Amino acid sequence: MKIDAVRTHLLDYKLGHAFESASMRFDRRIHCLVEIICDDGTVGWGECLGPAKPNAAVVAAYTPHLIGKDPLDIEVIWHQLYNLLRDQGQRGLTVTALSGIDIALWDIKGRRFGTSISRLLGGRFRESVKAYATGSFRKDGVDAVSDVAAEVAGYAAQGFHAVKIKIGFDVAEDVAVIKAARESVGPDVRIMIDANHGYDALEAIEVGKALAPLGIDWFEEPVVPEQLDAYQAVRAGQPIPVAGGETWHGRYGMRAPLESRAVDILQPDLAGSGGFSETRRITDLATLYGVRVVPHVWGTGVAIAAALQFMAYLPPDPARRNPRPPILEFDRTENPYRQAVLTSPLDHVDGVVQIPDGPGLGIEINRDALEKYSLKDA
Ligand SMILES: [Mg+2]
Repeated sequence: MKIDAVRTHLLDYKLGHAFESASMRFDRRIHCLVEIICDDGTVGWGECLGPAKPNAAVVAAYTPHLIGKDPLDIEVIWHQLYNLLRDQGQRGLTVTALSGIDIALWDIKGRRFGTSISRLLGGRFRESVKAYATGSFRKDGVDAVSDVAAEVAGYAAQGFHAVKIKIGFDVAEDVAVIKAARESVGPDVRIMIDANHGYDALEAIEVGKALAPLGIDWFEEPVVPEQLDAYQAVRAGQPIPVAGGETWHGRYGMRAPLESRAVDILQPDLAGSGGFSETRRITDLATLYGVRVVPHVWGTGVAIAAALQFMAYLPPDPARRNPRPPILEFDRTENPYRQAVLTSPLDHVDGVVQIPDGPGLGIEINRDALEKYSLKDA
């Protein structure tokens, strides 16, 4: 079995209504899928977190080193590709691109042996996961307080047990938004807040102190990812557990946050932190430090499928009679191709998502959707 070809698929959709996190404005949804084709006709799919065109360019740089290789030699390939760009790489796009390739190779391996990736990783601790609704970005020309309150009430009505709300814009407005959201969903729906590194440490501490009495499960990316001492200050200065990890890549990128105890909850993204191969190592590292792992997810159904396979395998930590299960990040913002790229959507029922157990990622790709949403100016 040899790798014959590697293709990237850039998917694009112009949003009807733009939205913003503290660090990014979304006018379009653009994501990069990776397709690896083998000489026996087996095809594997992966996805890269982050900007699509740069990811595709790095995948193209890796491609000559993949052609002719045995796709089952995943560790060998992973290290060859990592070493190829190590001197100027180590984290960022070199690792997000490698993540998409690694996911596709695991998909191929699962298809080759007729079993799901979760079983290849070692087995399935669970067959379904509770999802939490990610949304509540800021929109143009609306009152953020009433808009977010109405949006999260909708998620609660759909059965989601938890919602994650974007902050990091303005301390006073953010506090008002979360207070209104708590009133809107009542005491039983869990709330997480995500600043997308929009604050400095002093602002984050002020917000954390103000919101902690409302019952907040975690405070995600309070400050910029380079400032681990600021992360530590936020952890020490306010009571809400601190989360982060979507912008730290690979085990070396996760080492310092773990060693310095910058976070209570680590959020590696399968499509960003090095794929299944590296995220498994990262999870083992987190276990050494007693840090909780909740994977980050942002992308198409391919990225969701990868997260689901990993979460089926993710060992309970700590093990106990009724272990605390992982929860799935479930993006609720506008993206018509998120599920359309799959022949069978990975949807939720009352806030719960079943984990596929078919070969590889357990999904099939709808090529008509790839064509329909392909980036036209690529
Ligand atoms: Mg986030």
